[in-house]
Parts: sequence; C-alpha cells; structure tokens
Amino acid sequence: MAATSRGTSPVPPDVRPRLTVLSGPSGVGKSTVVAHMRTVHPEVWLSVSATTRKPRPGERNGVHYFFVDDEEFDKLVANGELLEWAEFAGNRYGTPRRAVLDRLEAGEPVLLEIDLQGARLVRQSMDDARLVFLAPPSWEELVRRLTGRGTEAPEVIERRLAAAKVELAAEAEFDTTLVNTSVEDVARELLALMLQA
Ligand code: 5GP
Repeated sequence: MAATSRGTSPVPPDVRPRLTVLSGPSGVGKSTVVAHMRTVHPEVWLSVSATTRKPRPGERNGVHYFFVDDEEFDKLVANGELLEWAEFAGNRYGTPRRAVLDRLEAGEPVLLEIDLQGARLVRQSMDDARLVFLAPPSWEELVRRLTGRGTEAPEVIERRLAAAKVELAAEAEFDTTLVNTSVEDVARELLALMLQA
C-alpha cells in the first residue's frame, strides 16, 4: 500500500481527506481495531466520543471516551455540540462535532467508531462520509466474543445480542465491508480506505 506521508500526516498530497465511519455489531471488535490503529498509526486522528456509560477497567477519560453524566450529556445535545448521538444498551453515546469538523477542515482524515444508528445519522448530515461495516467471521464467533468478554451482566449481553442481529442486517447500507479475521489486516485495510480518494 502506498501510504506516503508528509511530516506526521499519512495523507498523500492529492487526496482530499474525508470522514470514515467504522460501525458494525457490538462485540465484533471495532474498539480493538481502533486500539490497534492508535498504537500502530498514532498519526491517525480518532474522534473521542462522549458517553453516559461508566468506564470499564483500563478506560481513561479523554482517551477512550469522555465520561459524562446524564445532565452533561443533555447539555451537549441541547447546545448542538454533537455531530450525532444514539442510545445503545441503556447508555447514550455521541460524537463531539467541533473536533471532527476542525480536523477535516485542517485536511486530516478522521475516523469515527460508532454504532449503526450513529452511522446512519452521519450519512444524512455528511454525504461524502465513507461508511465501513466491520463484520464478524461468523455469527457463532460474534456470540462467542459477546459472551466471552466477561465484563457485562447477562441481561446486558442479551440486549447486545438482540442489537447485533439487527445490526448485521444493515451491512447492505454500507459502502464497504471488512471481515474481522485479523485485527492487523482490518486496521491496514481501513487505513488504506481512509487514504483513498
Ligand atoms: P461500548 O459501550 O462497548 O464502548 O460501545 C457500545 C456501542 O456504542 C459500540 O457499538 C460503539 O461503536 C458505539 N459508540 C461509541 N461511541 C459512539 C458515538 O459517539 N456515537 C454512536 N452513535 N455510537 C457510539
């Protein structure tokens, strides 16, 4: 892949950066792909979402999410500070608008990792966004990943499986599908897509 770079930017000079949205069912490994991207390609700018969910062990405020309470989230919504937001499994998640637009205006590619509802909302407001669907190698593998994480209560897993079934059916709405057979491969393919015209 010809990922030429100028300084720390991975963007070839003739490419207009645009917004890439990574979505897919819960548990498919979106956040692992993004974590890998963060480590291997720290020059790629990742949007940090606001959420009302409580932090999991190891998650840091301002790095993985901005952890806010309901009242703060209400304010972000009321002030129009979110590019999109959605409720997922009992918590709210949203993309801070200003940071994303600033990066795009500065000519840098931007990656969002969000749920399906959020991806649809981004498509409505930014029609040149590239929507990438991360698919599991199989349904069995997805169930194994969702039940194997060990950090969620059984009713939360049930809710997530139900959501995952609906989300899998949405693949056709996306521009591209990447199958998550290996984190390294997906991260490489995703970066290549981000640098495409
Ligand atoms: P988790 O609680 O596992 O970190 O995330 C749950 C779901 O929320 C995942 O599907 C994740 O992609 C999604 N999500 C994270 N941030 C955002 C966001 O800013 N907007 C939307 N719509 N979904 C998000």
